Amino acid sequence: MNELDSELVRGQLAALGYSFTPDADSADVVLYNTCSVREQAENKVLSRVGKIGIRKREGARVVLGLIGCLAEREGTPLLSRFPQIDLLCGPGELDRLPMLIDNALKTETVEAADRVALAGNRNRRTATLAAAADNLELLDLSRAFDPDGGGSGGPRHSAYVRITRGCNKFCTYCVVPFTRGAEVHRTPDAIVQECRRLADGGVVEITLLGQTVNHYLYTHGVALGVNGQEVPQVGPGGSAFTRSGPRGANGRRVTTFAGLLGRIHEEVPSLRRLRFVTCFPRDFGDDILRVMRDCPRICRYLHAPVQSGSDRILRLMNRGYTSGEYLEFIDRARDILPDISIAGDVIVGFPTETEHDFGQTADLLGRVRFKNNFIFKYSPRPGTTAWDRLPDDVPTDVKRRRNNDLLALQAGISATVHAEQVGRTVEVFVEGLSRRENSRAAGRVELGWERPRGRIQMSGRTAGDLITVFDLPPDGKPETLQGRIVPVRVLRAAPLVLFGCLEASTRSLAKQTVAVHRSGITQLEI
Ligand code: SAM
Ligand code: SF4
Repeated sequence: MNELDSELVRGQLAALGYSFTPDADSADVVLYNTCSVREQAENKVLSRVGKIGIRKREGARVVLGLIGCLAEREGTPLLSRFPQIDLLCGPGELDRLPMLIDNALKTETVEAADRVALAGNRNRRTATLAAAADNLELLDLSRAFDPDGGGSGGPRHSAYVRITRGCNKFCTYCVVPFTRGAEVHRTPDAIVQECRRLADGGVVEITLLGQTVNHYLYTHGVALGVNGQEVPQVGPGGSAFTRSGPRGANGRRVTTFAGLLGRIHEEVPSLRRLRFVTCFPRDFGDDILRVMRDCPRICRYLHAPVQSGSDRILRLMNRGYTSGEYLEFIDRARDILPDISIAGDVIVGFPTETEHDFGQTADLLGRVRFKNNFIFKYSPRPGTTAWDRLPDDVPTDVKRRRNNDLLALQAGISATVHAEQVGRTVEVFVEGLSRRENSRAAGRVELGWERPRGRIQMSGRTAGDLITVFDLPPDGKPETLQGRIVPVRVLRAAPLVLFGCLEASTRSLAKQTVAVHRSGITQLEI
């Protein structure tokens, strides 16, 4: 979500003539897009704010803005705590950011009210249909997509498209419903139109974004804008779903998540890969699994965070499912899609978590065989139900140990899952130079090295989201493969990465690609 917000802000500002630099010291305006999900992320950004404060006290003239969830959660008290901050903008108000920057650049002493755009928690919690039809929609729709990357980071071949904003699940540990507001569902037409524009502009892979994508449900004919066109609407909530899909909508036509996936697959045929995050483990209907099975360009990948293997803890988290129901969902997914790749999130050290609860989480990890898991230590977040009602009673060293134990367990599972790919040929969407190459390049810049001769390693992802690296053929160029989907034969595996080589047929095509590129055709399919 944050990455997409940054991209939209960048597009909005580029259209107004701003240019970008990775060097904060040389910038006139420094914006930090903040995350509030865990305390650590907040601390990191506040330490950077501190450093800019020192520079400003030494006379640097720079506008400092904090945008995103931390700005929304902490609000205006941040301005007195950190007087170096010139503007605050919440994630639901990003369309007002250019005005705030303008105010801050033009006047040294603007009123606090002209430096702040925040939704305010209460307003967001009671969002109405009218509130949903806000300018944010325009921000998504008017995204300035530049296939050349706007001079920042090279050409773009993958993109995010938001399908819902906000969240109404209120898991007791989570700050998102407070910082991003009520769950609002964009219209299917707007989503399909955005996907089509991106694919026409050269995007190969689109990831649909929502906090609980399977709860996407748009009821047609109820929310109309002034011109009679459909507008975003507040989501119906979990009670509108059963295991096999949404309940009826009183005779009204609806677009379900399965329907939306099918529409994009059908109506944007030039899109090579369609993926989505994040799945909510409850109400993931067979209709979605069947569309994934029947549409070859939809990736067979689910990011379905379980959070805990203990039913008692899941209840305290207000997740709305049991570990048994989670496992039933995974079994059903594997039944319909035997080659599905599954990733998850887990929180360790949630209040009252015992060794027994923790053991149940470890057992569940072994049972599901996730390809990877993001494992977080519980971080109490002000304003959440857990913060108010459940003392953070698991000691830090216990949280750390459980975190390390699960990381070690998951590393073993990931190694087995990755090893199963050895000997197979996988389709890899090439993202660019591998991390190794990028750090070698950084080293060369810092140390003034000459570019070493020899092999260059490229990196990409399989449809199941497995990171795969391979060597560029000696006469190939990285840019000829970047953004393409190529067959790679897997030679060996580590816990989180596959190592392979380009299939022979592609190696010769890669050479042809160089020739064809030189003659000016850039949309060659490999
Ligand atoms: N909507 C997604 C879902 O329900 O699975 C998750 C979105 S949340 C922004 C991303 C992940 O952050 C969660 O899956 C959870 O594991 C982790 N997380 C959220 N709040 C947390 C907290 N207070 N402490 C530790 N981890 C947290
Ligand atoms: Fe947070 Fe729960 Fe919503 Fe996910 S579903 S964003 S964890 S409240």
